[in-house]
Amino acid sequence: MEEDLPEAPIATTPSDVNHTASWRTFRPVIDLKLCTKCNVCWKFCPDDAIAFDGVGFPVIRLDYCKGCAICAEECKPKAITMVKED
Ligand code: SF4
Ligand code: SF4
Repeated sequence: MEEDLPEAPIATTPSDVNHTASWRTFRPVIDLKLCTKCNVCWKFCPDDAIAFDGVGFPVIRLDYCKGCAICAEECKPKAITMVKED
């Protein structure tokens, strides 16, 4: 049985077409020496802004990253640092 959606703002544009690089003030930088490839950053990113390279390390998709720092907060080995944009 279908349930009614809650009354709240609903995004009508998918995040993969919203480029956030123009207004982001901080960007995440990953220290691959500390990264354990656990994928937790990817699981928590609200904008699907993290991809993976050919050997399983995360790569930030900067066109879509809004700089919220959730990935840095959730990364247990603290491999992600938020760096101010120029
Ligand atoms: S959460 Fe941290 S350790 Fe895990 S994949 Fe992301 S950057 Fe690497
Ligand atoms: S800063 Fe936010 S939007 Fe950018 S990769 Fe991390 S969790 Fe995703």
